[in-house]
Amino acid sequence: MCYNPCMKQFVLYKRILAILLICLTAACGRSAQSGEAMTAAPTAVPTATPEPIEETEIVAEVTAVTDTALPEIPTLPPTPAPTPTPETTPTPEPTPTPLPLEGFVIGIDPGHQKVYDPAPEPVAPNSYTTKQKVAGGCRGIRSGIYEYDVAQDVGLELKRLLEAEGATVVITHETTEVNISNIERAEIFNKANVDLAIRLHCNQSDDRKMRGAFMLVPGERRTHYYEYNVKAAKTILEEYLAETKLPMRFKEGMTYRDDQTGFNWCTRPIINIEMGHLSNPDEDMLIADADFRKTMARGLFNGFLRFFAENGKPDQ
Ligand SMILES: [Zn+2]
Repeated sequence: MCYNPCMKQFVLYKRILAILLICLTAACGRSAQSGEAMTAAPTAVPTATPEPIEETEIVAEVTAVTDTALPEIPTLPPTPAPTPTPETTPTPEPTPTPLPLEGFVIGIDPGHQKVYDPAPEPVAPNSYTTKQKVAGGCRGIRSGIYEYDVAQDVGLELKRLLEAEGATVVITHETTEVNISNIERAEIFNKANVDLAIRLHCNQSDDRKMRGAFMLVPGERRTHYYEYNVKAAKTILEEYLAETKLPMRFKEGMTYRDDQTGFNWCTRPIINIEMGHLSNPDEDMLIADADFRKTMARGLFNGFLRFFAENGKPDQ
């Protein structure tokens, strides 16, 4: 094997020189032969023996030529690996938006009943003072509508509206044909651990011009929830008056009472609304209208919604 380029060149020259020498000798021979044909027989010209060519040299040269002469084969860009299809993530079920009153327990006590119960019961625990178990209530001076019917009607509609917004509603009775004392009504709310209870009533006055709605709340010494009750009463009355356009009676529409059996036996937050005066002929006629009673319920419902949105549940 000879990888020296100088040596390769030297061998190549030697080869070319030998070939030229052979050609020259042959030419001279032919020339002499043509001129002296008749005089001498042709002389055999010794053939120059070419130097043996190393096989490896030829291979090396061919390889060198091939290397430079052949066009470069373009390299194909690598085929990109196919992008794996992402696994389809199952669409999660949409979480239902909770209703605004979900988790709230609301008590409703439609005041009175069809037949009143004059039997006495203590107005407060450990009290010697008594009142009728259930008083008879008042009646529309012009329409003749009964207070217990107004209270029942508004109470059922209010219950329907509150439940539609997710509230759990405890109503003391769904018909007026019952006999449930005021102590028993309070105990229904205690047992249900209501967040807020409302008692529904209408008022009457000897003064027929007297009209409007107002609230009763337990006196400060009668409840653990005084401030909560006052806020609830003011908020709900405000919404009620806005919806019904009835006037407000008393300062800020508020009265504070220690003499209500339904308050004194109740250990939960509780308020009482006097929804209007059945002793006022105009107000009586309004309240006697079934559509207006729906408006009254709507006003109370708006009040509950706003109050709970602003204040949440009471401290237990
Ligand atoms: Zn009443």
